[in-house]
Amino acid sequence: MDYRIEEHAEQNEISDNNNIGLPKRFKVFTRSTIDKISKLHNLNHRLINEMKIVAHVLPFKVNNYVLDNLIDWNEVPNDPIFRLVFPQKNMLIPKHFRKMKKALKSESKKIIKSTAKEIRMELNPYPAGQISYNVPTFQRKKLNGVQHKYRETALLFPRSGQTCHAYCTFCFRWSQFVSLKTKDKFGVKSVDNFIAYLQENPEITDVLITGGDPMIMCFNRLVRFIQPIVNAEIPHLRTIRIGSKSLTYWPMRYIDDPDSDYVLGLFSNITDKGLNLCFMAHINHYQEMESFYFKMAVEEIKKTGAQILTQTPLLNQINASSDILAKMWKLQIDYNMVPYYLFIARDTGAQHYFSVPLVKAWEIFSKAYTKVSGICRTIRGPSMSCSPGKVNVLGPTKINGEKVLALSFIQGRNPSWVNKPFFAKYNPKAIWLSDLEPAFDEQFFFEKDYDKFLGPYNEIKKYID
Ligand code: SF4
Repeated sequence: MDYRIEEHAEQNEISDNNNIGLPKRFKVFTRSTIDKISKLHNLNHRLINEMKIVAHVLPFKVNNYVLDNLIDWNEVPNDPIFRLVFPQKNMLIPKHFRKMKKALKSESKKIIKSTAKEIRMELNPYPAGQISYNVPTFQRKKLNGVQHKYRETALLFPRSGQTCHAYCTFCFRWSQFVSLKTKDKFGVKSVDNFIAYLQENPEITDVLITGGDPMIMCFNRLVRFIQPIVNAEIPHLRTIRIGSKSLTYWPMRYIDDPDSDYVLGLFSNITDKGLNLCFMAHINHYQEMESFYFKMAVEEIKKTGAQILTQTPLLNQINASSDILAKMWKLQIDYNMVPYYLFIARDTGAQHYFSVPLVKAWEIFSKAYTKVSGICRTIRGPSMSCSPGKVNVLGPTKINGEKVLALSFIQGRNPSWVNKPFFAKYNPKAIWLSDLEPAFDEQFFFEKDYDKFLGPYNEIKKYID
């Protein structure tokens, strides 16, 4: 055990919190235990049956903290957090809903399983070629559990961090939680090869530890992934990012779990060693930030020297309103967090339910942007995380009298694509890059020789100037 970690554990005074009525120990409910959620007992049976049908296709998991602290049960079924975690009938298109309902009526396990799988495979379970294009090779072997799409950033998926404290109904990584194929059980068990890969690729300045949610791991597992990276003292490594929704789905992770003090000690250890620690907090609605425990957890993380940046997709039925976004970003600034990304709902799972057309998304974003001070305008977007890169919607404009949609890359497989405006034909119905056509050419500029850029960065860099 590192001395600093022990020291932090001894010094932290927040471990005895029984006097403030902290929630009881972590308790989860899944499809098989949904009937045990007492808060649902007053709901209409039809609604519960519909949720069960959808939960046979899309993953479902919720915990006692979300149920007791985040959902306003007086507003159910319209409450945004209820929709964020509980499957809704319209999250499946009617054809898929009917098919799953019929399969369940058959009461045959085999039919139910194969029907669920068939539907899942029609929901684009692997968007943006995450597994096929982004996994690098090291010493002639695929580095399973690592992705390197953008030059400066390598993603690490710890095997035991590929689940979450609760599942979001919009999640683009939903297929990881329903075991479609063995390759979905993505993730590394040890970081030795990853560290060697970092050492051999000096352009990597940032490591993003992601999941699922890596903060689901107990300290003993987490430390095995993080501490060796810190100890390796890789000269070009500047930032460790941790992508997590634990601040809102289980803030007790930082205030009352048996190993909370050790986790915070580990965070302090990263910053003490001179690395930036960026806690990438996934927050979809300001209602998630109104709990007292959230505020406590933010304060504990900030004490470690970590910076907290926030991100969310724009989600129809949950947060697609300029008032909601502006209120959320302002609150984040009050908590000394940095609003970072507003994404477009991805082309997978229940995209039809959550998506907002790109032009409309730009309007909502712009209206929210004008409602906040310059300090909040660290937020970027609305951005599509698609196969070529992160494409920002700059908005509609006119060129030579023709109405077009201006776009640019925030990140690209080829770094030289970044920040160059390009134009698509105006299409107010488009919800994704694939719905757009180039305004003035046969193809978008990045589509020239595109196939050769479809690989992890270390394998395509020979084509990059
Ligand atoms: S917490 Fe993140 S990874 Fe987990 S279900 Fe929600 S969006 Fe997906």
